[in-house]
Amino acid sequence: MAQLKLKGVYKRYDNAERSFFRKAAQNDFAVKNLSFACEDGEFVGILGPSGCGKTTTLRMVAGLEEITAGDIYIGETRINDLLPKDRNIGLAFEDYALYPPLTVYENLAFNMRAQKKSDAEVKKAIDYVAPLLKVEDLLGMKPPALSGGQKQRVNIARAIVRRPGLLLLDEPLSHLDGKMRQQLRHEIKRMHHEIKCTTIIVTHDQMEAMSLADRIVIMKDGDLQQMGAPIEVYDNPVNAFVAGFIGEPPMNLLSSVIVRGDGGWLFTFPDSDLRVEVPQRYHDVVSDGMRVTLGVRPVDVMVANIRQRAARLLSRSTKIWETRGESA
Ligand code: ATP
Repeated sequence: MAQLKLKGVYKRYDNAERSFFRKAAQNDFAVKNLSFACEDGEFVGILGPSGCGKTTTLRMVAGLEEITAGDIYIGETRINDLLPKDRNIGLAFEDYALYPPLTVYENLAFNMRAQKKSDAEVKKAIDYVAPLLKVEDLLGMKPPALSGGQKQRVNIARAIVRRPGLLLLDEPLSHLDGKMRQQLRHEIKRMHHEIKCTTIIVTHDQMEAMSLADRIVIMKDGDLQQMGAPIEVYDNPVNAFVAGFIGEPPMNLLSSVIVRGDGGWLFTFPDSDLRVEVPQRYHDVVSDGMRVTLGVRPVDVMVANIRQRAARLLSRSTKIWETRGESA
């Protein structure tokens, strides 16, 4: 097990295009000032839209990409300059990269043999890991004869066979169909419960992140937006991006102007007579004419007759963010 810490990590690819039309130098960074920590044995999901820097982050942790600035620690050790093989990390990426001429057993054994482990040690490790990923019946087969789901199981088994301190999974289920994904997700969860290895999974599938991870890191354009338990980011998104990104269907985000009504503060909406009461907890922060984005989850909307009075939203999910630099 291991604690992982990223402190102010940046990544700029040397070959990144610097276009005259691009706004600022900071846009050239694939990852910007990224800081977060994963506790010993924790399962963390990195989630965000395509191109936000998820894989780059994982590859820097793995030592497959150089870090432009910042530090990465495993436990107390700064690993920036350690070779990938010296980081005690297990990797399972989207493409299985199994050796086709070798049996599943030999694929699992490969890295241990490279480390000159004895046959008995290799067998003991494989005997432990194979049932966890349900690959014990596949050990004599070769990768071309395996289904996608079976290959992915072997891929993950290979990543954990040496019992790494840190397990990194990059979109490990993306090639699989819905049912298989669900099944393997369940098995990854069970495997993690059993070996309690600090694990990071990169995915753009929020169901995957929400169901597997203890905490989720949400990224956008190379920046960390929020890190928290799935229920925390769902219930208390820190900004409109996270609010719109987490949840299926996503949170409704409505432009609104706050006005002072007879009975208290109200949300008003362009081209609509609808008035909605501002929940009590925002009364201290709103002002007359303030422009805000109002977020409300679809499950918390009730259809009601509101001709006579302002509608009241179920306040659990209602969030507001001031629309910067504007007031009516
Ligand atoms: P996806 O979900 O599509 O895999 P991602 O969130 O994992 O995306 P990254 O692959 O980390 O995103 O890419 C982040 C940014 O870095 C993108 O703008 C991408 O174009 C850029 N990038 C990634 N790899 C390289 C590279 N080898 N050279 C130059 N730019 C790169």
